[in-house]
Amino acid sequence: MLNKEAKLFVISAPSGTGKSTLIAEVMRLIPTLKKTISYTTRPPRGDEKNSVDYNFVSVDEFKQLEKQGKFIETATVYGNLYGTSLETIKTSLSGGQFLIKDIDTQGALNLKKILKDRAVLIFVKPPTFMELEKRLRDRCTDSDAIIKSRLENAVKEIKESVKYDHVIVNDSLEHTVGEFKDIINGYIK
Ligand code: ADP
Ligand code: 5GP
Repeated sequence: MLNKEAKLFVISAPSGTGKSTLIAEVMRLIPTLKKTISYTTRPPRGDEKNSVDYNFVSVDEFKQLEKQGKFIETATVYGNLYGTSLETIKTSLSGGQFLIKDIDTQGALNLKKILKDRAVLIFVKPPTFMELEKRLRDRCTDSDAIIKSRLENAVKEIKESVKYDHVIVNDSLEHTVGEFKDIINGYIK
């Protein structure tokens, strides 16, 4: 069997749409997928662990790494800095490793410019704004003000979805996981 060229699957979605849930499910179903770990200046949330969920660094450390050219792309999201490690991406892809990572729309489009066909952009839409608001409220992690800003940002993010390779709607979780898995398997198998 021919070995297909390794890809980085870049997943974007308005906050609260369900991208973390979908990524966790698809990684369970496709164990060869590896999650790339980004750098961020935001503090860990809940039971997040350093070097597992993110490399958590201070603003000074982040700026230092940026100066050293360690990042393939960086972005500021909700006031925190995020950066994707150039070395991790290059080493993994050239070693044939398929990667997955959720990245905001600015970072995703930058990665596409740099990695071209090696990056597959997948946008996940909420079924409706009302449902998005409900998921954000039910998650109980954000204040009313933050939920309002996430909903405003969602309108801008959804406009960018036309530039993505694939767009899926996270309505029924079971159905969306199946669709998501089929898209990824189309590149792997
Ligand atoms: P994101 O990573 O996009 O911010 P999460 O994965 O944290 O979103 O999901 C936000 C909330 O919505 C969570 O409480 C999650 O359990 C729930 N959720 C995810 N997908 C669905 C779905 N298809 N239907 C209903 N609730 C969902
Ligand atoms: P969170 O802090 O909730 O994990 O992520 C907030 C936002 O930052 C999400 O939209 C997520 O996709 C995005 N993000 C996470 N890592 C990176 C990264 O390395 N680069 C960019 N551009 N965005 C990222």
